[in-house]
Amino acid sequence: MILKGARFVITQDEKRRVLEGADVRIGGDRIREVGRDLKPERGEEVVDLEGRVVLPALINAHNHAPMVLFRGYEDDRPLKEWLQRMWAKEGRLTGRVARAGAKLALLESLSHGIATTLDMYEAEEVAKAALEVGMRVATAPPLISVFAPAEERLKATERFHRNYRGNPYVLPVVNLHSVYTNDEDAIRRAAELSKELNVPLHVHASETREEIYECRKKTGKLPVEYLDSLGAVWERSVLVHLGWVARWEINIMAERGAKAVHCPSSNMKLGTGGFFPYPVFRERGITVGLGTDSAASNNTQDLFREMRMMALIQKHQYWNSSIVTAQDALDVATRGGAEVVGIKAGRIEKGYLADIAVLEITPEMLPLRRENLISNVVYSTTGNLVERVFVGGREVFRRGSEEFNEKYREAMREAEGFLDYLEE
Ligand SMILES: [Zn+2]
Repeated sequence: MILKGARFVITQDEKRRVLEGADVRIGGDRIREVGRDLKPERGEEVVDLEGRVVLPALINAHNHAPMVLFRGYEDDRPLKEWLQRMWAKEGRLTGRVARAGAKLALLESLSHGIATTLDMYEAEEVAKAALEVGMRVATAPPLISVFAPAEERLKATERFHRNYRGNPYVLPVVNLHSVYTNDEDAIRRAAELSKELNVPLHVHASETREEIYECRKKTGKLPVEYLDSLGAVWERSVLVHLGWVARWEINIMAERGAKAVHCPSSNMKLGTGGFFPYPVFRERGITVGLGTDSAASNNTQDLFREMRMMALIQKHQYWNSSIVTAQDALDVATRGGAEVVGIKAGRIEKGYLADIAVLEITPEMLPLRRENLISNVVYSTTGNLVERVFVGGREVFRRGSEEFNEKYREAMREAEGFLDYLEE
């Protein structure tokens, strides 16, 4: 298949080239060629993009997909109360309800230009939803040893791996909820398992001040130090939030090659305080991804809005309008996310996964010039401008397509049917 006639292709390659009038050839699940005037081979499908903008599909590096069902319910409450109310709602969540929520969240994500999401929730249901809608998710059953024995969850994680290993749409990870919901043994064993399976160890860390105080009181260490002492900070560790991380903990992460995820909207909305010091991570060469976090704390699955939020909050915090640029924000949402998850994606380049988003040109994108294109994509557009999305070479979203709309309507009807039950 050839995508022809794009006005601009944002490659996100090593040189961050933006190509004018380039075509993209897709073969199987990969990008085969990027260049001008590609000639279709016999029988090759040609898609005319009529002057649109092409960019790598985005990667949401932290989410709890089924929580779209809780969107807007407990907003503006104190964090502790918010959490308690969420847990009470979650207590009523059955597999069928979680699947309906997951499907809705993934369809929303796809229609906002996201091809891959790193998730922590009802893994089996999210995996099934992903296979149904053609989106890629990285997930596993979450380890919360204060709720369920670690043994049981580790076994479930291993089972999940056996079932999905090698599946192009479901990438198994190890999901360790946090230091405050797991005992030492659970953390140590989760870390060992992630190393044995060589998969990401996805964990919330240093999100709130209370978390770091409690951790220090209990263990004498800050959360990242504590995780490190148990072997849980390594190359494939993905530490999410880090608003209260100390400089020396960032040094530990750099030494170990661990990854970080920034969720600016969620942190601001929940008023968790602290600050994710992006320029320090960048300077230390630490890979950073960008996450929406759940729709209960964001409240959208729109990573375009998140890119804007990230750049703005960083500039604001440092009193410096050039310290974090639009290019930085696009980098974390594409290349950074791909490294966090561990897939060859996030670039429009030969050999990379054909995960591609196409943006419509509307007045928000004007003036449309190579020089200001990245700026306009990050600061001025939203995911609503996404017109088509390809995941692994398959077109899974086209705005206005009856097939997609029907899927979306059906998912909405299904989710609506469960809401009365959740609200009781
Ligand atoms: Zn989270």
